[in-house]
Amino acid sequence: MLNWKRSWLALVLLLCASAGGEVRPLTILHIDDIHGHISPSEQGMGGFAYLATAIRRERANCPECILLNAGDLVQGTPVSTIFHGLPVFELANLLGFDAATLGNHDFDYGWMQARKFIETANYPMVSANVVGADNRLFARPYIILNVNGLRVAVIGALTDDMKNLSTPKLMEEWHTVPVVATARRYAAELKDKSDLIVLLAHVTGPEEREFLDSATEIPVIVTGHLHNGLEHEMTCDGRVLVRVKAYGEELGRLDLKVDTEKKAPVSWTWKRIAIDDSKMEPAADVAPKVKRWEDEVTARVDRPLAVSRKTFSHAEVKALIEQAMRDETGADFAFMNGGGVRDGLPEGQLRERNIWNIMPFDDRVVIAKVKGSDLPAVVLGGRKPDPDREYTLAATDFTAANQSAASQLRSTGLEFGDDVGILRDLLIDWCRKKKAIE
Ligand SMILES: [Zn+2]
Repeated sequence: MLNWKRSWLALVLLLCASAGGEVRPLTILHIDDIHGHISPSEQGMGGFAYLATAIRRERANCPECILLNAGDLVQGTPVSTIFHGLPVFELANLLGFDAATLGNHDFDYGWMQARKFIETANYPMVSANVVGADNRLFARPYIILNVNGLRVAVIGALTDDMKNLSTPKLMEEWHTVPVVATARRYAAELKDKSDLIVLLAHVTGPEEREFLDSATEIPVIVTGHLHNGLEHEMTCDGRVLVRVKAYGEELGRLDLKVDTEKKAPVSWTWKRIAIDDSKMEPAADVAPKVKRWEDEVTARVDRPLAVSRKTFSHAEVKALIEQAMRDETGADFAFMNGGGVRDGLPEGQLRERNIWNIMPFDDRVVIAKVKGSDLPAVVLGGRKPDPDREYTLAATDFTAANQSAASQLRSTGLEFGDDVGILRDLLIDWCRKKKAIE
């Protein structure tokens, strides 16, 4: 009888608790757009060994802490480019992620490499709107994390702009389906299975706005893709969106109080923690592994490439780059903006490092089909095109996006579609084939 009474009391209490809901803490640590920056910047910011220290410090005595990455872990440093991103994923396994999503650049080495990233990660990679020809999913769409008793559904999402940010060659059958509608559909499905829905999204500014303003099913949004961190969190009707600065220079910390009945936060505070290497020690288990990969890079980029017959000024290197673009792509005309040429070339033995110094950016080469009469004057170089014929013009994606500028093409509306890869890789291939640069 007594036991029965006790059980009954326990049951009543349980029902009351679940009917009335309760307020529980959840802390989301987050980063985005690391872009292969495993080592500190020249200003002494970031680096995986320091990031690890900061993450572990925040996680200490915080059972309600989770760590999320909003995409673009790779692409942007020699270690990423040379080894097609895998070392970055291997090192990221030391940081203790609970979930991550794929960014557009995580597909830069092709979809099969992105598959390898998913297999390499020791945490779930979620992406709800990348699908194949028969609508099958590229990755698991979401994960439900049990965080100190709180069921947190994390849905991954990738920008609808993917078609402009990648190439058919890299993606083959894989493509995005509408990001907002798809994520909302999953959120509706997950409502009963979770206490809080978190969107982990690699999306554009307008897409961030659309999610925050219209996706009422999704109260918490962690994003990446834009590289500038937010000054303050964005909010709308009790929903919150956060994003930190790229390259691991900041770690975000969003402390939430979650109403488990409303399945929404009742309050939060957000802060950005600067990964200032002068103020912390590198993690002893991470630093040597980062160094091992950087040593590998040094060995590779110091490999002999070609011989230069003379010293080339910045302006002469600009002309060499344009020649390389034409030779390697078969384009009729090519344009390189002078400001993008970051170094000259010395006479004598060249190493790959010389090309990295000329072109430290990950600018991509894109091709436009242009009628002769519409060709920008700056690309003609004395040639007189047939005004009615169609020509191909190669330029960087940076030029394409800023084409109207005086330092660029002074054109408007030229459509650069075909992305043929990273300019630096193209230059290295061209130099290696030529053997002598003159
Ligand atoms: Zn991105």
